[in-house]
Parts: sequence; C-alpha cells; structure tokens
Amino acid sequence: MSTINYPHFSLDFHKNILESLEDYGVFTTDKQGIVTSWNKGAENVLGYVEQEICGQSAKIIFTDEDRKNEIPEHEFTEAMEKGRGQDERYHQRKDGSLFWASGLVFPLYDNDQKHIGFTKILRNLSNRKQAEEEVLEARKYAQSIVETSKEPILILNADLSINSASKSFFKLFNLDKHEVENLNLFEVLSRSLDPQALKEQMQSYDSFENLELIHPQKETDEEHILLVSSRKVFQTFKSIGQFLLTFEDVTFGRKLEQAKEDFMNIASHELKTPISVIRSYTQLLGLELKGKSNDRVNKILKRILHQSDQLNKLTSLLLDVSAFNAGNINLNKEPFVLLELVLEIAAEIAETANHQIILQEISDVRVMADRARIAQAITNLITNAIKYSPDADTIHLNLQVDEGKKSVRLSVQDYGIGISLHNQQDLFKRFSRSNHTKARNIDGFGMGLYLSQEIIKAHQSQISIISDGENGSIFYFDLDVI
Ligand code: ADP
Repeated sequence: MSTINYPHFSLDFHKNILESLEDYGVFTTDKQGIVTSWNKGAENVLGYVEQEICGQSAKIIFTDEDRKNEIPEHEFTEAMEKGRGQDERYHQRKDGSLFWASGLVFPLYDNDQKHIGFTKILRNLSNRKQAEEEVLEARKYAQSIVETSKEPILILNADLSINSASKSFFKLFNLDKHEVENLNLFEVLSRSLDPQALKEQMQSYDSFENLELIHPQKETDEEHILLVSSRKVFQTFKSIGQFLLTFEDVTFGRKLEQAKEDFMNIASHELKTPISVIRSYTQLLGLELKGKSNDRVNKILKRILHQSDQLNKLTSLLLDVSAFNAGNINLNKEPFVLLELVLEIAAEIAETANHQIILQEISDVRVMADRARIAQAITNLITNAIKYSPDADTIHLNLQVDEGKKSVRLSVQDYGIGISLHNQQDLFKRFSRSNHTKARNIDGFGMGLYLSQEIIKAHQSQISIISDGENGSIFYFDLDVI
C-alpha cells in the first residue's frame, strides 16, 4: 500500500479550507464511508445540509446502479492502493436528480499516520457534459442532413478524413462509400482530379467560397468545372472542429451562358448587314419616288427607316453587351468638357421629346474619358428618365463639382414612376427590368443600364440610384476632373 504526504492540519483549519471551496463539494468520511464533515459546496451540489448527512453513508450520493456494482467501495480501495482514486460519473442529488461530476478520493490520516477515513472532492461537470452532448447531437444532426442531401456535400474530420458524405458526392467522384469513409479527402480526390489548389486553400482559410476545380471526365474526355466551398464547423473549447464542404458542378450553366453569349454575338453580327441593306434600299426607293409618291407612301417609307434605325441600335447594343461581357472593350480616353457633351446630348434628345430638360447646376470642368462611351451612358440615363416618367414633363440635370475629391457628379433626376429599393439591386444586370406595374407597359430590353454601368465602371466609377419607389428617381455617377 502506498501512502501520500497528506498535510497534518488542525481540524479547525481543515474545516475552514473546506468551507471556502464553494464550487467544489468536499466531504470527509470515516473508514467505513460514513460522512464526518460536509462543506457548503457539497451542500450546493448535492442538496444535503451538513447536519442531515453527517452520520449517513456516503454511498447515498451514488446512483442505484453504481451502488449495486459496488463503485463506492472500489473508489475507496483505489484511493488506498494508489494514494488517490479518480473518476467521472453520474452522482445523485438529495432530490433524486442525477448530474455528471468528477470525483477525487484521498485517504485521510491523523497525526500519527493512522488511517482514519477519506476525503472526497466532487466537481459538478453537468454544464460541460451538456455542452459536449449538444455538440454530439448537432454533429449527428448535421451528419444526417449531409447524408440525405441531394447535393454533393461532405463533412471532414479535423484531420481532413471523410466523416460522412451525401450519395451525390460519391456519385460525382464515382466512389464507394464504405471504401473511402475515414480516408483523407485529398488522397480520395486525387484519384479523379488535381486537389492541390483545394489543399492550399484549406491550409490558408477556415472558410471560403466557390474555388474553381477542373474535373476531367475519363469517359467523355471532357472537363467539368466544380465550385468548392468550405466552412469550419463544430469548433468548441474541447474539439478542434470539422469542415463542411460543398461541390457544385457548374459546367452545364457555364455552357449555357456561353451559348447565349455566342448566340447574341452571332445574331447581332448577322443582323447588322441585312438591316443596313434594308435601310439603303428604303432610302433609294425614297429617291426614286421623289415627286411621284403621295403622303401615305412617304409616311410608310419614313416608318421603315425609323424601325430599321431602331433595329440598328438594338444590334449595336447587343454587340456592345457581348464585347463588354467578354472584356473586349478598348476605351479611347481624351480630355473634354463634360458640360459641352451634356448640352449636345440634351439638345438632341429635346428635339423629339415632350419633356423639358433643365440644367440646374453647371460646371465647365474637364474630364479624361471616352467621350463616345460616356455619351452612350448619359443618353441612356436621360432617355430612361423620359421613358419612365410618362405623367411628368421635366427632367433635371446637375453637374456638381466636389473640390475635395476632385470629381464631378452628373445626376439625372426624373419625377416618374420611381424604382423600389428591392428592384434597385438588380437593375444593372443584363435583361433586368423592374416589376413596377407601370414599367411593364413601357418598351425596353433591360440592357441599357447594364451597358451604362459597364461603361462607367470601365472609368473606375459606378452609377448609383436614389429613389423611394414612388416619386421619381435620381441616377448619378462621378468622374475624376483633370
Ligand atoms: P430598358 O429601359 O430598355 O428596359 P434599362 O437597362 O435601361 O432597360 O433599364 C432597366 C430597367 O430599369 C427598366 O426596364 C426600368 O424598369 C428600370 N428603370 C430604368 N430607368 C428608370 C427610371 N428613370 N425610372 C424608373 N425605372 C427605371
């Protein structure tokens, strides 16, 4: 039997120390396990006050099952043999409820080194136990979501081995579930693609989105594009966390996008020639019929010319959109006075518009920009302002200079149907139109704002909107002055 050097304090001193340990239940027993002292902490944790428990067996704080299995006796024997007994288990309170606690049992000796009993220190760990159980529950829950998900998704253990994955993940990589579970992800992935980029990304970041991976297809010799996103989950004070990974095959979407792009490009190219031919023949017909035709024929010829002009504009717009989308736009920047350009555009539009275009604030600052492209953007903003304010009669333009930022702001204000906040976010996307009931009856392709925004972005700026969705809108952008 080994002994420990247990300090030989006076009983009062011993008692004082015990009373001060409020978070720990500390009590002493005699050699038979009958409680001889009981501190405040033990009262808090177990519910018995000192007077009622002293004289009773300490077995009372064990569960029925542990008592049956003689756990209290084993603890004392272990303490005697090893100098201390230690374990974690459920204990029972006075009211019968159970709680998880760690227990330390020491033999107690008197001044003559005679064994007189035991000291037990009990620490309530129910919070920790509960937290651990909750994490375990959450892990199981996540596992079941992952396993039943229709998307390729998986949970990795902290050591990057596969914990669980959805059927579609195994299908995507043509893997056998039982064969790869618990294997390292990169080892598994390297059977079908080069996982180096993913490895590096996971080493550098706990979370990331849409990392592009090329997935060669052996059967078809094609390459698929996968977007991988990762997030660290279930990290607690005790565990180092797991990773949740999703894989998205975007090959089909990308192909579709490219096909749309190609179609728009080809269609607009192919349309350009016939349209200009129609235009030329119509002009020729006009000349041939000069003096011979009547008003009605002249009117029809004018309409054909107008419509072919519209078609021409549309094909140019589509070509521009394709070019911007493919990044094939070269800007011809030159210095010019922005006010002069705005005046030119306003005068041209005013010729055919019913609205009055009023310049409120003006400035003659110069900017360095692509004049024709900026003209395209401004024209679009002013024609939209007119188009979407059918019941108003005024458009206000402002050129405001910010001396501090050395920039000029062009704003176009209308008093029309307005744009709700919800719609404002998407309007600069291609083919995007607001769902305002009144806007639905107004012709348009939803391409002008996209193009205008791309033009302004190419000048390191952006178009912004102010509108409360009812009382008109203000569109504005800034350009650096020189
Ligand atoms: P289009 O006018 O050809 O549809 P745009 O890209 O120029 O295309 O505009 C996109 C959408 O934004 C329009 O369909 C319209 O719903 C909305 N919009 C643009 N300018 C205004 C404006 N000044 N007032 C209200 N709505 C507008």
